[in-house]
Amino acid sequence: MDGKIPPEVIERAKKLREELNYHSYRYYVLNDPIITDREYDNMLKELSALEKKYPELITPDSPTQRVGEKPAEGFKEVRHSARLYSLDNTYSEEEVLEFHNRVKRLLGTDDIKYICELKIDGLSITLRYESGTLVLAATRGDGAVGEDVTANVRTIKSIPLKLRRPLDIEIRGEVFLPKSEFKNLNDERSEEGLPLFANPRNAAAGTLRQLDPQEVAKRNLDAFFYQIVDPRRYKLETQWDVLAFIREIGLKTEPHAKLVEKTEMVIDYWEYWQKEKHVLDYAVDGTVIKVNSIHQQEELGYTAKSPRWAIAFKFPAEQARTKLTQVSFQVGRTGVITPVAELDPVELSGTVVRRATLHNFDYILEKDIRIGDLVILEKAGEIIPQIVKPLSEVRTGNEKLIEPPERCPVCQGPVGKGKEGEVALRCLNPACPAKLERRIMLFVSRDAMDIRGLGGKLVKRLISTGLVGNFSDLYKLTPFELAQLGTGIGDKIIANLLREIDNSKDKPLSKLLVGLGIPGVGKKLALDLAKHFETLESLEKAKIEDLLEVQGVGNELAENIYNFFHNEEVLKELDELKKFVNTKEPLKKREGILEGKKIVVTGTLKNYTRKEIHDLIIALGGEVSSNVSARTDLVIVGENPGSKLEKAKKKGIKIMSEEEFLSTIKGENSDDLS
Ligand code: NAD
Repeated sequence: MDGKIPPEVIERAKKLREELNYHSYRYYVLNDPIITDREYDNMLKELSALEKKYPELITPDSPTQRVGEKPAEGFKEVRHSARLYSLDNTYSEEEVLEFHNRVKRLLGTDDIKYICELKIDGLSITLRYESGTLVLAATRGDGAVGEDVTANVRTIKSIPLKLRRPLDIEIRGEVFLPKSEFKNLNDERSEEGLPLFANPRNAAAGTLRQLDPQEVAKRNLDAFFYQIVDPRRYKLETQWDVLAFIREIGLKTEPHAKLVEKTEMVIDYWEYWQKEKHVLDYAVDGTVIKVNSIHQQEELGYTAKSPRWAIAFKFPAEQARTKLTQVSFQVGRTGVITPVAELDPVELSGTVVRRATLHNFDYILEKDIRIGDLVILEKAGEIIPQIVKPLSEVRTGNEKLIEPPERCPVCQGPVGKGKEGEVALRCLNPACPAKLERRIMLFVSRDAMDIRGLGGKLVKRLISTGLVGNFSDLYKLTPFELAQLGTGIGDKIIANLLREIDNSKDKPLSKLLVGLGIPGVGKKLALDLAKHFETLESLEKAKIEDLLEVQGVGNELAENIYNFFHNEEVLKELDELKKFVNTKEPLKKREGILEGKKIVVTGTLKNYTRKEIHDLIIALGGEVSSNVSARTDLVIVGENPGSKLEKAKKKGIKIMSEEEFLSTIKGENSDDLS
């Protein structure tokens, strides 16, 4: 490098590049960032400014010159037919005006219309349809090469496998996890002692880049689309038309895009949505301002990293500053001990925040958070208050390190790490009342035995008085015992509660399985297990290989379930429970569901011979055909399918795997075969 650049500048640029590369790796590959986007963007801006002043500093791999990261291992790589770009971004109104002036200058005209869109906080995806059939879905990766995530994307309900027109087309957009799902997912992960996702974008990326599509299907990912490759091929002249066209062919667009006639209105749009974004069930981290005319977009072109015809105008993260006064510990159903920061109450994004999760002790160490610190708070995905960082520069010296508890804060039992590599600390006492309380709360919850009227306070009291030490004890409660609790509940409430408990005895096995809190078994899997094994007894006897036959069960889950049903304590309790509750799953086949449908089967099936599946189709009102034709409604595909599959794809006929077909006829998914 030439001698004119001051050595400290060279040093600083190197340091920034290293830091940015590290954080970019954490963000894109691990989906686990440890700094905020704003901090990342500030560093990137500083590096950009240095490189602008001293262009010799630019290296081809500089984070200012490239998009995202290389594809992660485990996925097939896809070379994109046309590059996927990032967006230039700004947090300031002046820079938006500079953008507008630059566009004006480059186009040599004032006649520019913009379209404002919301910037969805998800991850980029590109879909390729051939003759209207989805053939490929890929992540952005480094812009040139992405990851083939077709199998996973097929599980996203709002992405059609077949367009409403038989087009060859490539469409781009954003996959995201709705906020409500993000919260549920993090709650579940916290219970399981898994690291939490920092925001919905990381959660969506972590989900879409799972290697197991069954796991992906369990989380309700969704997607909006905003771009078509080569729009002129479809006679589209503006971004506004592009959005309308995307909707017309059957994909979703974010519904609040706006065409603005006057440039100032881009600021109004941004101001409006900065305030109103909380009403949406998906996280948005800013607006995107795009030149509306495709012709003008083409004239403006791209830099190495982003289009010159668009800019992301990001929302400032809403932050608050407060004091961390104390740390308390919460014990979850599986015994995971979560440190929680107790804060001086402070208003943040519309609510008063008093507590924030500290996730686990590795997180505390990494961020060096101490009791007595002034901290900066932000809401992840606009929902969960998080500590961004402590203000270590204003420490007084009186701050105290946060020590992991040596004993369980609730039962004083021993604590330790459950499994090797696990970040969470757990209470190891199986009889810990905190665990029991959470387990009972799960057992009575709506998705499980649905016993209304048993709230947290009452459950605590039932446990502390020794009336309830396990699930089966709920069924032994008497009106007299409940009246003696001293909680002041009257006869009517007691009678209602006992009726609710009584009603729960008839719940199907799947509900009971949710309530038992088997590690890794949520609502959907409980249903799959119940349908597969039909009775609790046969599930108890299942070997690992039997469990692996169930859709969505991998090695780790199979082991969890097996171990659960081979634990002496559990078996003792189940024997007791069986005296009260139903342990069978009623198998309802939806008769006539295939009425009038012409169905072709191809390939070898796992559960049925060819004759058996034909009989089943006929029994459910369908018709079996041996050839795929325009009149075929459905093709069921087993292993080694023949040319019928290709033919069906070409004709855009609905295709289902054996499992999908079985779930459909059992009424487990909403697919109505129409
Ligand atoms: P970006 O997320 O800032 O913007 C570009 C992306 O926005 C596009 O690729 C597209 O996927 C998406 N998008 C959403 N709605 C859109 C719409 N309506 N129109 C067009 N595009 C839309 O850029 P990026 O390259 O994906 O990521 C860079 C950002 O990631 C940085 O600005 C930084 O904030 C963050 N980041 C953070 C860390 C960290 O450690 N916190 C690390 C690396 C990157």
